[in-house]
Amino acid sequence: MICYNHNEIQAVAVCKNCFKAICKECTISDDNGFACSEKCHEEIVVYQSMIEKSKTMYGVKPGRAPVMTILLLVAGFPFLCFGAFSLVNGDWIGLFTLVMGIIFLVIGTISYINMKKTGIRS
Ligand SMILES: [Zn+2]
Ligand SMILES: [Zn+2]
Repeated sequence: MICYNHNEIQAVAVCKNCFKAICKECTISDDNGFACSEKCHEEIVVYQSMIEKSKTMYGVKPGRAPVMTILLLVAGFPFLCFGAFSLVNGDWIGLFTLVMGIIFLVIGTISYINMKKTGIRS
């Protein structure tokens, strides 16, 4: 692989943005990876910060309070109890409430397990 700027120099890296082969002289490198130019470097930084932001949004970042998980678990129990109570009293609307409670608890439990998994990595 030859550098796209220098015909006689062996490339040592590939630009993360435009995938051109680049030699040591042309490479701009930092924590985000290699870039062939200042322009590409900027784009990589923007792209990288977008990934970081989306990670934060989905609660993957450690240390974030899993509000949805707690909400689902807390809301699930009353639904479950109320539904079961209604069913026992012969009210079939209770079945709907019971199912809602079960769904809440199942989703809550799954996201709780996921949270534990990602927590170990941090
Ligand atoms: Zn580039
Ligand atoms: Zn070069």
